[in-house]
Amino acid sequence: MTETARRPQLAYLTTVLNELRANGTHFKLRVLDDQQAPVCHYDGREVINLASNNYLGLANHPKLVEASMAATRAFGVGSGAVRTIAGTMRIHMQLEEKIARFKNVEACVVFQSGFAANAGTVSAILGKEDFILSDELNHASIIDGARLSRAKIKVFRHKDVAHCEELLKEIADQPGHKLVITDGVFSMDGDIGPVDKLAAIAEKYGAIMMVDDAHASGVLGRNGRGSVDHFGCHGKVDVQVGTLSKAIGALGGYVCGSKDLIDYLYHRARPFLFSTSHPPSVAATCIAAFTILEKEPERIERLWTNTRYFQGELKRTGFNVGGVNTPATETPITPIIVGDARAAMDFSRALFDEGVLGTGIVFPTVPEGKARIRLILTSEHTKAQLDQALETLERVAKRMEILR
Ligand SMILES: *Cc1c(COP(=O)(O)O)cnc(C)c1O
Repeated sequence: MTETARRPQLAYLTTVLNELRANGTHFKLRVLDDQQAPVCHYDGREVINLASNNYLGLANHPKLVEASMAATRAFGVGSGAVRTIAGTMRIHMQLEEKIARFKNVEACVVFQSGFAANAGTVSAILGKEDFILSDELNHASIIDGARLSRAKIKVFRHKDVAHCEELLKEIADQPGHKLVITDGVFSMDGDIGPVDKLAAIAEKYGAIMMVDDAHASGVLGRNGRGSVDHFGCHGKVDVQVGTLSKAIGALGGYVCGSKDLIDYLYHRARPFLFSTSHPPSVAATCIAAFTILEKEPERIERLWTNTRYFQGELKRTGFNVGGVNTPATETPITPIIVGDARAAMDFSRALFDEGVLGTGIVFPTVPEGKARIRLILTSEHTKAQLDQALETLERVAKRMEILR
């Protein structure tokens, strides 16, 4: 028994955990024994990995590993301070310049994570007098940033541009800045936000337009430039957030926009001001990743080929991959809707035992009654791996009467 185990102060947390155990949604963290690869080992079991965001296989790409080690040898393991004190290294600036060129914008600022980029930016650019119009399925980091800003939050129905416009109309006479914000790709359903249409109505009402491209970076648009490029609405989106943690394979988030937006965030974004910058190895890794996006678009092609094949086969087998009572996926994010939370978690566990890793996702991450497993394809899965996963999914789903 450890020192703190019997103290009563936090006993209410144990009560909550016991409730999770009782309804079958308590989980243990699965521990990866080797690299984040299409076939790898979690807790000693070999699985086909359909759970990671490593869309392009960059998390363990030899060129990125080499860049990371070279930067560590040259510049050490840590940056030593927050950016504004002493922690801005040459390589941090080089990464920001690289991303800005890639995205064809004036400037870029890198944050420690995509979460920090969203929460730090929304809370920095808006205040009490302002309004935020936010898609109901936007990511938690946007919601938290909106709350931190203390602006008035108006939630529009998922991808409902007309509803967003209605809300903009209602507040048209009010003073205060207005921000329209959407995910570029929604992380639980895999559908694409109507960035072009929202940008057009934002323009009409003089609102700021912001998009969170965490799952679109490296996936949508030419060379993975994201949703703005996908829709061809360059110059219409004021704030573009991306992540370095998913397709880019390392860790971090970034904001792209005008020089003054970025300069302002240097002065006001709290994660930038109050939290230490990336180790040089991370910056170097990300620079190498963007070079690969520029030079090897065939990775993105393979990602989409795998996605079309896998989703087509799932539909043919009769799985509910969304599109009826949930949005239809348009990206490599592949939900298999189960409905009941316990059944979804049991399905995920049974798949794991049979060698397929797919994440069970339940309330509050998705609405009640829409529990699912979520699968994500990568460019590096082979057809043989996908076929084996499909066979396992069908067999286990039939046994569990998820497929009839
Ligand atoms: C993952 C994700 C984030 C957070 O990115 P991290 O770099 O992992 O912090 C933000 N927004 C969306 C939509 C995401 O899916």
